[in-house]
Amino acid sequence: MTAVLRTENVTRIYRTGAVEVAALRGVTMQLDVGEMVVLLGPSGSGKSTLLNILGALDSPTDGRLFFRETDLTHASDRALTRYRRDHVGFVFQFYNLMPALTARENVALVTEIAANPMPPEEALSRVGLGHRLDHFPAELSGGEQQRVAIARAIAKRPEILLCDEPTGALDSATGITVLEALDQVNRELGTATAIITHNAEIRRIAHRVIHIADGRIAREEVNTTRLKPSEVRW
Ligand code: ADP
Repeated sequence: MTAVLRTENVTRIYRTGAVEVAALRGVTMQLDVGEMVVLLGPSGSGKSTLLNILGALDSPTDGRLFFRETDLTHASDRALTRYRRDHVGFVFQFYNLMPALTARENVALVTEIAANPMPPEEALSRVGLGHRLDHFPAELSGGEQQRVAIARAIAKRPEILLCDEPTGALDSATGITVLEALDQVNRELGTATAIITHNAEIRRIAHRVIHIADGRIAREEVNTTRLKPSEVRW
């Protein structure tokens, strides 16, 4: 498989005054083209820190990060901004939508500055919201708002989608509609997707699961059989 994103022995130490916390302690992993990976681990195990480093929102204390063949470890701020803008979509636990803008307008904020975007209507249709284009966030359920956030993240056709607890604020039935949207995007657009969760059931929808514990990769497993999001229960 070809890696679209790869880390080599990444560490991340947070220093607060005299106190040091090693959030990551030597993580070597990759995300392959078109793959869906779940990063599973308990709260505080280092998942968000890893995702932030993969998305160049944070940089490692030590170790290296590659996007395809490009070593981003010591890239300039400008190059990192370009990497994030052109290649990475982000989805967070809280949707961060602009309340005064409709679903379509929230997505258009991104498509107006992207090089080769899809129309906002197409992005919203891909997450099952083709009938909610002109609704404001307050008129949408939590799951629908998260799907607008996914539409916004994919509208620029990124190669990589990084999701930090995308169902963390949702009940299970609603969370499943969000996982369905992520699954559909992964299948139809081939977007390499990493999903952080502490919910072990969600691992069943992934191609591969990376278990994180105490800042390290504890183990990896490949799902020979994947469940559809609608078959997952928690
Ligand atoms: P997870 O996403 O698995 O819950 P995090 O990556 O958020 O874990 O955190 C890993 C460890 O790093 C935790 O011990 C956390 O307290 C610590 N940490 C995270 N962010 C910071 C920060 N900005 N400053 C200091 N410590 C942090």
